[in-house]
Amino acid sequence: MVDGREPNLPPTRPALLEGRSLTKIFHRRRLGFDRTHKGVAVDGVDVTVREGESVGIVGESGSGKTTLARVLARLERPSSGRVLFRSEDVTRHPARQLRNLRSEVRFMFQSPDAALNPRLRIREALAEVVRIQDGCRSRGKIMQRVDELCAQARLETRLLDCLPAQLSGGERRRVMVARSIAGKPSLILADEPVANLDPVIQTEILVLLEEIRARRRLAFVVITHDLAILTSFCERILVMKSGLILEEFPLGTSVEMDSTRHPYTRRLFDSSITIAVREGRRPNFAQSRNMISGGRVSQDPGPALRRQLERGCPYREECALFQKEGRPGLCERDRPPLLPRNASSGHKIACHLLRE
Ligand code: SF4
Repeated sequence: MVDGREPNLPPTRPALLEGRSLTKIFHRRRLGFDRTHKGVAVDGVDVTVREGESVGIVGESGSGKTTLARVLARLERPSSGRVLFRSEDVTRHPARQLRNLRSEVRFMFQSPDAALNPRLRIREALAEVVRIQDGCRSRGKIMQRVDELCAQARLETRLLDCLPAQLSGGERRRVMVARSIAGKPSLILADEPVANLDPVIQTEILVLLEEIRARRRLAFVVITHDLAILTSFCERILVMKSGLILEEFPLGTSVEMDSTRHPYTRRLFDSSITIAVREGRRPNFAQSRNMISGGRVSQDPGPALRRQLERGCPYREECALFQKEGRPGLCERDRPPLLPRNASSGHKIACHLLRE
């Protein structure tokens, strides 16, 4: 077993959920203005999640990672591109035709407070999901199933009679885990599954998810701004910025931050407080704050620069390599495509200058 990951799954597993050239554009009206502003949240992304695979999507706030996951789960319709579930095109399916997708692909929302009804006791909140996902009708069966879910999520049964507000942050997370494993899911999309938890509880939740993943052979997509969380959980990592995937790489026993890495991935690595503490170096607090708040430099560059950044590499204004190489015109003119850097390792990178 590598870092707790499953050793005996076939190397090429069938594709479970695929996104093909996915784009999601939001049109927002600015306060006090009649004209709408176009925001490209996901920009022509290709992604495949295979059966039993754990994939991490990392990027600062506003990079498009949550929108990509929501589009893949068909909680949002893509503006263009296709979503395939078990090779079936579900892009334009109406809600009533998405029953299989809804029961097999589950979305664990970032905020338990927003996902849980504050007036519903945990027992009833879980019973509702069991009724829908397990198709149980008798009260006795439903309660038996609720107890089983509690045991699997390591949630104390005495908490079933509580309201969400009476639970700690870690306990509410366990309720979210229990909800997501009701029925027979094949894939869980977990949006910031350990956000706002202290490090001990974070570890407990990650260990719990890893146990559930291995026992049920589930596929997982974990979305986070902290690369450290993914290094302990995922087999493959996608790095996103400005709606694009800038790098994709498999994970072995460690993440090598050498010259083959995308400059943005290296910045994410440097900004991770958890990794810095693990390696015994001083964290870069300014960068960490940027990642969580959305990195103001890149998040809101203003209308003029935003228009310029719609062409060329979206990372160029922060890229040390771009500056070092004398601001190459190629980086300013053309979007770098995500291409294999090393075909045998599965490492892909979107950078004009870092090609083998
Ligand atoms: S394409 Fe150019 S600007 Fe973008 S990461 Fe590579 S070197 Fe930097």
